[in-house]
Amino acid sequence: MASRLMEPEQIAAMNAAVVPRLRMPARATVFGERAARLQQLADNSTIGDYLRFVARLVGAQQTLLAEFETPMPSAESIAVAQRHSMPVLPAMGARPPLWRDVLSRLLDLMAADTLPPPLQALIAQVRGLDGEALEQLADAVLNAQSGGSARGVDPASAPFVMAALQVVWTDLASRLAPAEVPYLDTPGHCPCCGSLPVASVVRIGGVYQGYRFLQCGLCATEWHMVRIKCSHCDSTEGIAYHGIEGTSDALKAETCDHCGTYRKIVYLEKDMNGEAFADDLASLPLDLMVTEAGFKRSSGHPFLWQAEQDEDDQEAQGRQATPGTSDRQGT
Ligand SMILES: [Zn+2]
Ligand SMILES: [Zn+2]
Repeated sequence: MASRLMEPEQIAAMNAAVVPRLRMPARATVFGERAARLQQLADNSTIGDYLRFVARLVGAQQTLLAEFETPMPSAESIAVAQRHSMPVLPAMGARPPLWRDVLSRLLDLMAADTLPPPLQALIAQVRGLDGEALEQLADAVLNAQSGGSARGVDPASAPFVMAALQVVWTDLASRLAPAEVPYLDTPGHCPCCGSLPVASVVRIGGVYQGYRFLQCGLCATEWHMVRIKCSHCDSTEGIAYHGIEGTSDALKAETCDHCGTYRKIVYLEKDMNGEAFADDLASLPLDLMVTEAGFKRSSGHPFLWQAEQDEDDQEAQGRQATPGTSDRQGT
């Protein structure tokens, strides 16, 4: 009997079985592991106090993940999103009001710590904002995190607002099955919520071994992307990897000559404790080096925001090609 050739759908299904497309956030550990990594990185850092503060904020996020459970979108709205290749947990649009309760508890947990007076004042200031002001701040950070303008973002309060939103979206994403998440037409964005990634991680172990994933800056979902490819413009040419000599080779900046941007990439085979969000935040000297070489970040770190006057400029430059120089290090 003649054997039948495989249909394209069957081939795609086979590939999907080999390469895991998505890695949903592990509810019990996602923020706890990030906090531990930040603590670890703080020990050898010139910005150690700042990283320890962020570690406390992220540790509080893990605590809140155990306290809150946001109602899932209806089965109907999930089905509509699947039919239209839209994010099932869209960052933009209606928001679960619960996020403001999460923020309030987050501020309680932070205020209970001994903090320097300027941070205490900042927490008091965020606590004093009314519901409308908070919703406007949330709109602004989520718009920027989805690739839009950062207009209206207050850099000082944004990390707290973002931290509360991350708890809500990570909670929801952790309860989704990969099969429920449709393929989107916008490959550079998180398939779950439509936000931009923070950085890449090349994973080790089991079905993830050797595969590169992009980590969402909002819901912490990771999605597979082939290696040596720009995560901003999809170019497979003109990709280079830069590291700082004398530092760990577990972290590089992946630059693209085609669009002139970069994102960092963490190699767990070189350091199994690496974590995209934490390692990105703790490696500002690497940003400085590749920025001096002419590259722009393809998206900002969710906890680091620029003052308002830079936005238009930053936004325009982030999407325009700036050819790289030949001043390269690393591989
Ligand atoms: Zn996401
Ligand atoms: Zn590119």
